[in-house]
Amino acid sequence: MSLGGPDDEGPDTPRAPRQPPLKYVRRPAWGAAPPRGRPRIDPEAARGVAVHYSAMNVDEERLHRNCAGRVRAIQRYHMETMGWLDIAYNHVFCRHGYVFVGRGFGARSAANGTKDSNDHYFAVCFLGDDTKGRADVTPEARRALAQLIQEYRRRYPKARQVRPHSDFFPTACPGEELRALIRRGRWSELARYS
Ligand SMILES: [Zn+2]
Ligand SMILES: [Zn+2]
Repeated sequence: MSLGGPDDEGPDTPRAPRQPPLKYVRRPAWGAAPPRGRPRIDPEAARGVAVHYSAMNVDEERLHRNCAGRVRAIQRYHMETMGWLDIAYNHVFCRHGYVFVGRGFGARSAANGTKDSNDHYFAVCFLGDDTKGRADVTPEARRALAQLIQEYRRRYPKARQVRPHSDFFPTACPGEELRALIRRGRWSELARYS
């Protein structure tokens, strides 16, 4: 390879970031109650991410300002009715492309339905449902999920799997739309600027 020729663009050409930054809504911003505990996942045991939906009517989240209240309601249900230590999900993403921090990276989830799946898979949840004949998972939500998966893979390079909740437990969760998206894969492409 010759240096200094006409094709030499020089070192350190700044590159555009491949992926837009994740739009986090951190716990104080959504009004999270303090957790009663924060169990850790064994990072060596992590295999990937399980995808869920909240099965709440997306029309209730038509406006982003309603989303935080829905996430608080999930947390209340998980802590008060289910008796769990915190909201069960590591992250919740909404149709507007925001990612609400639940248990966060590093924590063991309580959402996957079995001890084994909670030991090995993080849990991320779409704030919405899957109405027949309608696209509920917006392009913003798809990208937020893809960005989140890329971020998990960056932090846990060996945990590359993306699985629907229904792989682990007899449930309709996360709906056909998200199952199709998971089958399709191509997360790095989806996470990029379009
Ligand atoms: Zn689920
Ligand atoms: Zn929202």
